[in-house]
Amino acid sequence: MSRVAVVTGGSRGIGEGISLALQQMGMTVAANYAGNDARAKEFTDRTGIPAYKFDVGDHDAVIAGCARIAEDLGPIDVVVNNAGITRDGVLHKMTWEDWNEVMRINLGGCFNMAKATFPGMRERGWGRIVNIGSVNGQAGQYGQVNYAAAKSGIHGFTKALAQEGAKYGVTVNAIAPGYIDTDMVAAVPEPVLEKIIQKIPVGRLGHADEIARGVAFFASEEATFVTGSTLSINGGQHMY
Ligand code: NDP
Repeated sequence: MSRVAVVTGGSRGIGEGISLALQQMGMTVAANYAGNDARAKEFTDRTGIPAYKFDVGDHDAVIAGCARIAEDLGPIDVVVNNAGITRDGVLHKMTWEDWNEVMRINLGGCFNMAKATFPGMRERGWGRIVNIGSVNGQAGQYGQVNYAAAKSGIHGFTKALAQEGAKYGVTVNAIAPGYIDTDMVAAVPEPVLEKIIQKIPVGRLGHADEIARGVAFFASEEATFVTGSTLSINGGQHMY
């Protein structure tokens, strides 16, 4: 029987790499996205993976969206909380809205998706939740108090929920990616990005499929004894 996996923000960037890796493992995959319909359609046409539009920061929308996926594909066995945004700025210029939106989507999204799916996994005695954190949640980053706090929160969320799932066959793990060549990083000004790359020991940005391999491991049938763990995939940038 094929496992059903949902990848939030799964239609482009790192999420696209994850969706494809889980599909290659034989899973039935649903990709969630926020609003870029054209990109989602192109993704579905190319991969055959259906895309579901809902805002992971909206609790009711997540409950309804996951119910729709379960109705279409079957009970959800694997969740990858990958959807995330940035609203960068130094603290003295950052607005409450910039703070709140990043917390709502990046961290609140993990809670909402877990609320929608963890009880079913627990009842069925099998589940995999993989949360995408960030090197900047481990090390901090100038101009990102909101993003670093939300991503750091993901690592605590992972360890706490892992303890709740452990006796029920539900593992909860996290990946902390370094800088990956997606649209999110393309938005970083060139001179800043050059300085960042100089600090990455392997000397380049990472690729989405290099993060996806880590997710595939955590999501696999064999990864039964690993939970509450964070895997850093960052080219040696921050050793934690
Ligand atoms: P992208 O900006 O390239 O893609 C973001 C994806 O998330 C899109 O599919 C987008 O949907 C979706 N999304 C955004 N907001 C929401 C929302 N409210 N509800 C549902 N879906 C949403 O991001 P990346 O691929 O670069 O990043 C993916 C994850 O990895 C993020 O959590 C990010 O913080 C993290 N990360 C990224 C790093 C990097 O260097 N790129 C480094 C470390 C961590 P749509 O297409 O509709 O806009």
